Amino acid sequence: MSQEPVDPVSPCLGCGACCGFFRVSFYWGEARSVGGLVPDHLTTKVNSVYSCMQGTEGGHGRCVALLGEIGTQVRCSIYQNRPSPCREFACHSVTIAGNPDCNRARAHYGLPALQCAEFESQAS
Ligand code: SF4
Ligand code: SF4
Repeated sequence: MSQEPVDPVSPCLGCGACCGFFRVSFYWGEARSVGGLVPDHLTTKVNSVYSCMQGTEGGHGRCVALLGEIGTQVRCSIYQNRPSPCREFACHSVTIAGNPDCNRARAHYGLPALQCAEFESQAS
């Protein structure tokens, strides 16, 4: 769910679609038990190299750490300790280049597509 810092008017706060669409996988070394941040009990081992957030194993599943209702109001319960893919995933509306995967996830939940930052700056 988007990169930091959290903007109080970020569309992510009323979305959360990406937390219920992709398999959120990351190098197992991000787990807390081996010096990382992500609470182990919320993860699933994928293979000898990768783990993923529970609930997202097969894709199109909701991350166990997501609170609230997708498309209405959501919050990541481990925001400060979320794995790298969550930190790196950009909201389409806050990046110049945009992130089509953001809108792909939103479309899955019937949410309208966002415009990228470049489009917004040209329109104003
Ligand atoms: S799908 Fe896009 S708008 Fe929705 S929470 Fe993820 S990054 Fe934010
Ligand atoms: S850890 Fe947080 S930001 Fe990452 S997928 Fe789960 S709820 Fe979303």
